[in-house]
Amino acid sequence: MSFAIEHLGQNLWRGRFTAFPEQEVVHGFSGRLGGVSEKPWDSLNMGLHVEDAPEAVLENRRRFLRALDLKAELAVSPEQVHGTEVYQVRDEDKGRGALAYAGAIPRTDALITDVPGVPLLLCFADCVPLIFYDEEHHAIGAAHAGWKGTVGGVAGNTVSAMQRVFGTEPDKLLAGIGPAIGPCCYEVGEEVEAQFREIWPQHADKLFSMQEGRRKLDLWEANRQQLLSAGLPAANIECAETCTACQHKWFFSYRADGGRTGRLAAVIALKEY
Ligand SMILES: [Zn+2]
Repeated sequence: MSFAIEHLGQNLWRGRFTAFPEQEVVHGFSGRLGGVSEKPWDSLNMGLHVEDAPEAVLENRRRFLRALDLKAELAVSPEQVHGTEVYQVRDEDKGRGALAYAGAIPRTDALITDVPGVPLLLCFADCVPLIFYDEEHHAIGAAHAGWKGTVGGVAGNTVSAMQRVFGTEPDKLLAGIGPAIGPCCYEVGEEVEAQFREIWPQHADKLFSMQEGRRKLDLWEANRQQLLSAGLPAANIECAETCTACQHKWFFSYRADGGRTGRLAAVIALKEY
């Protein structure tokens, strides 16, 4: 099991977890190359909310999703407000947020669905993308976990929602922690550490380190711990261990790119049989 970067053709690349069975569920984390956006969103910006030209973003989405054999116009996206709400995507939600940010599922940071052929599409530049696959119930999930969402428990909420809605058994659920800013680069203030210590006193020592006088947070590990607490076996949790700030030539990074930049997309969809 591992995280692999693959060339999809025409300079489009995706990151993927090899543990996710491609014949049942297709997913990908988009890179920076192969799109049409101008600087500072160059070039495969997938985010409609970052002042890039919408027609460029839509072309980028079409290219990337077509390369995954998915339809960009059916994609569903949440507003992403650094919260912890989970929304169940049904057939009638197809296309919400696909063409305009205003159409996204409001005040939501995680989506779950068992409808085949509907791509869940979430946008990131350093925050942690989480994806889920329940093979038994043929259901998927995707979540956006920055530090606030992580403290709030969005990963655990997504697992709980899948249990409630689809009957998912956490010990059979597969999860992937995608490319995101790593413990090497994610500097945070004391107040962030204080909040983690309050909620997870047992894990905080593992999550924070001082490097040259700077406080660094390991958001990958924070989310992994949350998934373990939710009942997933360690063997079912994949981590890309790919830092978007270190690798910002390949992936958009809010911090390494100086704030104004594009967004990578985490895309996951159930195959239609
Ligand atoms: Zn780094």
